[in-house]
Amino acid sequence: AEQDFIARNPKSRAIYQQATESLPGGNTRTAVFYPPFPVSIARAEGARLYDADGHEFVDLLGEFTAGLYGHSPQPIIDTIHKTLQRGISYGSQHEDEGKLAALVKLRFPSMDLLRFTNSGTEANLMALAAATVHTGKKKVLVFDGAYHGGAFTFKNGQSSPINAPYPYLIAKYNDEASVSRLLSAPENAGNVAAILVEPMIGSGGAIPAHRTFLHFLRKAATDAGALLIFDEVMTSRMHSGGGIQSQLPPELRPDLTALGKYLGGGMSFGAFGGKRAIMEMFDPRKPTALAHAGTFNNNVLTMAAGRCGLEQIFTPERAQELQATGERLLASLREASGNTLMKITGYGSILCFHFTRTAYEDIREPGDVYDHDKDLGALFHLWLLERGFYIARRGFFALSLVLTQEDLEAFVQAVREFVRIHAAH
Ligand code: PMP
Repeated sequence: AEQDFIARNPKSRAIYQQATESLPGGNTRTAVFYPPFPVSIARAEGARLYDADGHEFVDLLGEFTAGLYGHSPQPIIDTIHKTLQRGISYGSQHEDEGKLAALVKLRFPSMDLLRFTNSGTEANLMALAAATVHTGKKKVLVFDGAYHGGAFTFKNGQSSPINAPYPYLIAKYNDEASVSRLLSAPENAGNVAAILVEPMIGSGGAIPAHRTFLHFLRKAATDAGALLIFDEVMTSRMHSGGGIQSQLPPELRPDLTALGKYLGGGMSFGAFGGKRAIMEMFDPRKPTALAHAGTFNNNVLTMAAGRCGLEQIFTPERAQELQATGERLLASLREASGNTLMKITGYGSILCFHFTRTAYEDIREPGDVYDHDKDLGALFHLWLLERGFYIARRGFFALSLVLTQEDLEAFVQAVREFVRIHAAH
């Protein structure tokens, strides 16, 4: 399959080769690399991607959820054009930052106040910094297999050596006992600043938290004197667009939330926010205010694009429709994959393929699918590319608002065909 891929993609190959001369492995974004080299996308429109060799793909990756609006949402493109005519960046306060903040706050009722960053990674960095200052504690409880950004990856029970330097306690997702054990260990008791959790593990494999686990974490954090931080960078699109937290009663909501991805209308974006008493530490009118700087925190184009998306496109009704579309697609894919190694997990419009022997009911945390058959996964990925469907090599995919029913039916059909030929065991 790799030989066919190489033969079919001479221009992508040349572009990649050239990039290897100045970027390590030709790459500046680990998640978009796959061997032998990634296709080089030259253009995108609607729900389609076009590569340098002229192939067309149905975009099912949706830029790891940042591509919610598809590639050419007219209102956002018009807004960006209009905004550009007033200049690129001001080095100043401007109207759209407060407008976008108000729209975000309306959707995420746990966020009394929020601040913008340039990425989800930075949002988590700032949320953790706020938690350590607010609590006066240092340790951070996270979950194996979680991804909170390039400086916060946890796999095989390990914190990556390039992670932001915090003392991490790595628990197992959906496993209350593993959390209790860590929080009650004598060396940790009284020293934990925050529990940082994705209410669904996203790029780590689209594994949702059990509702009871989120309830447990809320109580465990409060009892430990730690803040509960929800990383909803990916899950912010869920339900009516208020994230998974929108389904929780007020007393079970997080203290802080990290956001990112589509909320910037497709431009670079991040935000963190939460309880007033915590976020007021950043109020510059206070003599003791903590600084939170960033040249592009209030990026003029991002603020305008994000505002437009929430005001004009991603209404609560559209959000709920997308959630339902994802649920129907999950059911169809599970039916198409049958009782084979191929498993599809996820929630709403964020899903992931795994080639694993683990039964659905036993997939509770990323470690349960660490047996993922990478070779079969690679074959599946190249098979889909050849048939014009674009997902992540690891099997992750996310729906946008512009995919049609026909696109999704054709995708299910391709998956069914792959299972019949390659995975019917
Ligand atoms: N948190 C989660 C849950 C994510 O999925 C991501 C990105 N995939 C991030 C944080 C980091 O966001 P960014 O890539 O914008 O830094």
